Amino acid sequence: MFPFILLSIFFGILCGIFFPQQMIAIKWIGQVFINMLKLIVLPLIFCALVSAIASIGAIKKLGSIGVYTLGYVLFSVSIAVSIGLILLNTFQPGNGVAPSLILANATPIDLKPVPFSSYLLTLFPPNILEAAVKYEIMPIVFFSIVFALSCLSVGKTAHPVTDFISGLRDIFVKMVIWLMYLTPVGLFSLLAAAIAEASLQHLLLKSLGGMLMFIIIFLFGLFLQIVWQLAVIVFLAGKNSKEFLSTASNALITAFATSSSMATLPVTMLVAKEQNISDEVARFVLPLATTINLAGTAMYEAVSALFFCQVLGYDLSILAQIGVFLTAILAGMGATGIPEGGLITMVMVLRAVNVPVSAIGLLLPFDRILDRFRTMTNVWGDLACATTVEYFHTKKNR
Ligand code: ASP
Repeated sequence: MFPFILLSIFFGILCGIFFPQQMIAIKWIGQVFINMLKLIVLPLIFCALVSAIASIGAIKKLGSIGVYTLGYVLFSVSIAVSIGLILLNTFQPGNGVAPSLILANATPIDLKPVPFSSYLLTLFPPNILEAAVKYEIMPIVFFSIVFALSCLSVGKTAHPVTDFISGLRDIFVKMVIWLMYLTPVGLFSLLAAAIAEASLQHLLLKSLGGMLMFIIIFLFGLFLQIVWQLAVIVFLAGKNSKEFLSTASNALITAFATSSSMATLPVTMLVAKEQNISDEVARFVLPLATTINLAGTAMYEAVSALFFCQVLGYDLSILAQIGVFLTAILAGMGATGIPEGGLITMVMVLRAVNVPVSAIGLLLPFDRILDRFRTMTNVWGDLACATTVEYFHTKKNR
């Protein structure tokens, strides 16, 4: 499968540059691929979480896996945001960029505060089916966890239900395995269309302009985030780096192609299996991590907000930077692994430092490509999280 994937990347780039119109015309092939992946995501999250929690059996055990997962997520996202803030403060890429690029489109409405309560309300919808229809993942995750805990507490009479859900999960995993055969086709179409659109709007050339430094710094930050987690995987969990990277590549390529860690989840779960992460850990940790462990996205939120402040000449105090730090973590979690979700939730962070929302326009031409890199970092973080949790979990039960 791997040679086919490399070929599809190679031809995707070539065709995107030389046949842009035709590639845009067949963009729907990639959309069909993404739709098929997304189709499986919601039921898979529900079934995977419920059968994982139910199969663990003892709430006490789940407690420790849950605590390790949350601990890892908070640690890794905080490191990501800190890396971003340190790099931006050191290199100051925004100094010298014309503030009119942001202020030209600013309106008073841009400065209207976004109530925090409205974000919280989406986490607790009155109707779980409505949340599913709107593709809101976070409420589904909460619901699945509470549902599974109730199954555990009901005990024997709930067994037929949990057995049925475990069966469903296996069926969805099988569908994913079949879908994976189509990856080269989907990847070709998605990549070619993205490159074609950029070249038609002359954005490929424009991207070499004023924001190049910002982009390089951000990508360097993502690289550092990947490296420290690789160190954890190798030195703490004792994995072989080459082997780990080669099995992870399938999930990373899918993340790059789909720009969605949620859509990649089925593949991430397959990779975890290949890396000998136990089903018990993978089925609980990965759906949860995919939803809240968006370190690449959180870093993006923070560096972008700081970059805009530099462009506008705002001198941010330590307190204001702590505000950026906290809201970036939340905004990263809110993006829930959908394509360009981070761009949408960035509004939260911009509001925290009073940057006009119109500033996002400055990022738009580059966001689609940056999204692919941060999605890869997010998925990498999910695998690192599962590996670390597996390590602590087996150590504890030894
Ligand atoms: N596309 C990203 C993901 O799925 C979220 C984002 O940063 O926009 O992980």
